[in-house]
Parts: sequence; structure tokens; C-alpha cells
Amino acid sequence: MKWLTGMELISSMLLHFFGNPIFPVHGSLIVFPNQNIQPQNTQKQVTQNPSTNQSSDASLPADTPKTNPIPQDAIRSYDQWIMTNSVSNIRTEPSLTAPILLQVPAQSWFPVLGHEGQWDQIRLGNEQTGWIADWIVQKQKNPQQLQLVDVKWNTPKYAGPDLSFSSTGTANPTFTYLPREVCGDWVHLLTVDTGSSVWVPAQSVVWGYGTVSIPTIQASSISDPPLQTERPLQGKTIVLDPGHGGADTGAIGTVLPVYERDINLAVARVLASKLEAAGAHVILTRTTNDQFVSLADRVKISNDNHADVFISIHQNMYPEDRSVTGTITYYYDEASSKALAKDIEEQALASLQSRASKEQMNQEELYVLHHNQQPSILIEGCFLSNPDEVENSILPAYQEKLASGIYHGVLKYFGDRQHSTM
Ligand SMILES: [Zn+2]
Repeated sequence: MKWLTGMELISSMLLHFFGNPIFPVHGSLIVFPNQNIQPQNTQKQVTQNPSTNQSSDASLPADTPKTNPIPQDAIRSYDQWIMTNSVSNIRTEPSLTAPILLQVPAQSWFPVLGHEGQWDQIRLGNEQTGWIADWIVQKQKNPQQLQLVDVKWNTPKYAGPDLSFSSTGTANPTFTYLPREVCGDWVHLLTVDTGSSVWVPAQSVVWGYGTVSIPTIQASSISDPPLQTERPLQGKTIVLDPGHGGADTGAIGTVLPVYERDINLAVARVLASKLEAAGAHVILTRTTNDQFVSLADRVKISNDNHADVFISIHQNMYPEDRSVTGTITYYYDEASSKALAKDIEEQALASLQSRASKEQMNQEELYVLHHNQQPSILIEGCFLSNPDEVENSILPAYQEKLASGIYHGVLKYFGDRQHSTM
């Protein structure tokens, strides 16, 4: 775990200093040549196009997915912007110890929604906000601009935010993209030119602004069939329970005052986006860090919604011995929940390249498991008392790995059950 944390830091430092995204795609490395990274292109200017729909359609490749209408609420313009001066972290809360949603290079542009102390609240796509320290940015007036992004050359695009979703080719860098949200290592985009929804690796996105011709978008029509996306969790109801919340911060990190409640919610959000992309109906027991929900209410949400699975997300603490690290998965009822715990534990350990902290799959009488009538588990992702794990816990890479591990465990659990009932 120590070694891995070091590697995380080194790879993120490389990204910072060279701005040269290197990320694994199905086990191979794609390295973008430097000449394709053109910060001046962040100021994308897609001006009003008076030409007919015909000419705009004619320029699109034949295999372009079906055009969908752009949702009206996805098209909002902003006047106040910030531009990053250097590599910057965007966080879930206005605090230096809050989980990081995204690390962006210099000259990234974001619309400003508000301020709190020395922090600016910014948009990270139409469906998400984040916080950035105002001493590392330049304020800009930039009237009536939409938040748009460029996607770098040869970027693979996926049907969902996980490498296990099928790749739908490479993103067309001449297209214009509206960002929707950032989830772990992924950004969800809406292709302005076709209205299609795609996921791309977060490092491939250049955050900028511009204007687009909305009437042209809405009038264009392409008759290709809609994108086929696999939905292995269609019809499943999954309750995600980010542990703690409000005044109940959960564990507080020892060398960094990280709140467990904040990490739990950040991971739950990334996991929710994967599950939803796979067709599941996802219910979160809480959606903000200042929200307090009783243990009884969490269980009630699971039971009342007849959850197919209930997953409680926590981080651990053992201040008596700061060297203790690793991941633990708990279940209570063997008949309903042991298989789920086993699948999630196996996949989470593999994804985090972590080890089980204690004997695997403890049967502890944890309230949210004991009183749950649904298949239910509680996972402790890492130890906030361990100096390496607490530093790692606020990085998007950790949120991504833990969420991806749990997601693959859920896929395996339902996959196995489907086979056994046939
Ligand atoms: Zn906890």
C-alpha cells in the first residue's frame, strides 16, 4: 500500500509537471504527443452558424450516433469565470482536506457560482459543482459563455464510466462537448453536434468555454440507430449508504484532518454513476456532507425500497497502531449477504491492490446490517489513521478504485445469481 501510494503520487506529479496524460486503457499505455495539447484551444469559439442544417449534417461522419435533443437545462451561460494559473485541485468542499474531485492543468476555465471565505464555488459540468482556492486562480469576466470542453486527439469514449463498458470508438476532437459531471477518473459529456452521451477519461478533457448555435443543434437530424449500451443491472434497486454525515464526521484523519463522512460520500457518488450507467436504480441515503441521517432511517430506506443490495461505505480508524492498513468487508446475515460480501471484498481488494486488514468477512453486528432485511454489506475502504492511506484517500484515484472494485463485485454478484437461477 505504501508503494502504491508512492506510485500514485509520482504519476500525478508527472501529470502535473508535464501535462502529458498517460493512462492505461485495457492494459496498454496511450501517450498523447505534446503537439496535441494546445491550451490556446481552450477558448473554443463555436460561433453562430447561419448555414443550413444540410451543411452541418454533411460534415458529420457516417457512423455518428443518432441525434438526441440537447436538454434545455444543459445550455446555460455564465458571466463570471476563473482561469487556473497552475495545476489545481477542485474539491468537494471549501477545505484543503476535502476530497479532490478533479486535478486540472493551468489555463482551465470554470464558471463561478459563489464564494465562501477564500474559496470559489465553480461548475464542473451541468450536474455538478466543486470548490477551488481563490488564491490559485485568476478572476475573469466572460459574458454569456457556455461551459464547453475539448477532448484530446485519439481519446477513447465509453458507454459508461468504467473500462468494463464497451468503447464506442474515439471522441471526435472537432466536435463540441458540454460537460455534465466528473466521476472519479471519468467525465460525462454531451456531444453538442449529435446530442449523444459519452464518457471519457478525465485527463483527456480540456476545460474551456464558448458559444454554440442552439437552433442548429436542435434542427439537425441524423438517422443512425441509437448507441447500444449494455445495462446488466437493469431493474435492480441499489441503496448506497455513505456512512456518517453532518456533525457526525466519522473518523478524522491523524496526519491530515480528513473527515470520513466526506470521503464516504465522494466514493458513493462515483459508485452511483457507474451503477446508474449499468441500468440500476440507485438511492443514496444522504447526498450532502452536512446532512445527518440516523442509522434507523438508513435501514428504513433499504427495507422500504426492497433494495436488491444495500452497500454502506466507510473508512476505518485505528489510532493505537498507525501502521495498520487495508480494506474490510462486513456482513451480518450469512444466507442473504455472505455471497455479496465475498464478491465485493474480492473485487475491491483487487482494484485497490489492497489486502484484507483482518480476517476476511467479519460477521459484526453493525446496526445497518443487523436490522436490514435486504442483502447488505458494509465496507471500510482504508485506514484514515495510517499516514499513507489518509493522504491517498482524498485523491480521485482512490475514489475511482474503491468505487470500481465495489461495482465489479456487484456485477459479479448479480451475474452469478442470474446463472444459478437458469
Ligand atoms: Zn465509519
